Amino acid sequence: MIDSISAEALGEPGVKGRYYDLGLLFETLLAHRKADQYDLVVGFTHFEITEGDRKQYDANEIGYFSLSNWRNAAMISRHPNIVKHSSPLRDIYQYAQFLLAGELLGMLSRNEDLFHEQPARCLFEECEAREDFRLALESATICVQSRAALKTAGVSESAINAVEKILKSVRRSSASKLAPAEV
Ligand SMILES: [Zn+2]
Repeated sequence: MIDSISAEALGEPGVKGRYYDLGLLFETLLAHRKADQYDLVVGFTHFEITEGDRKQYDANEIGYFSLSNWRNAAMISRHPNIVKHSSPLRDIYQYAQFLLAGELLGMLSRNEDLFHEQPARCLFEECEAREDFRLALESATICVQSRAALKTAGVSESAINAVEKILKSVRRSSASKLAPAEV
């Protein structure tokens, strides 16, 4: 665990006055004190996040669930506009674990083609359509095709199995759910 980064350090959101640019967040994360002691650094943020070069999209819904730089840094958003696409059957920790699992394997594989272009109810769901996310989260599995792609990209069996353990706990029906304990 490394210290949290203050909102002051990040300044105002740079994309449409609303979203933080992921490129900038990765830079900030990796420049953070002690970050260089770790192979992989994952940040959780309350902000809406996107890629600065996605300005061509319309104003709504350019926020990402999560993204990595495919190497050593990843960011996961728990902004309400994003979390609202989660499943009522899963709590906020399972939501975070699911995204973390995908980003960890994304960074280890360094394979930007890992994500499905079509809905597959797989960990590597593109989620361009927001409703795809809920189904993928509830399934919380790595499909045969993606497993093969991970191996081809050189991800070890032990890393895949470690992530499978995370997914197993994501699939477990949650007792706490999102509400009302979170409120
Ligand atoms: Zn898949």
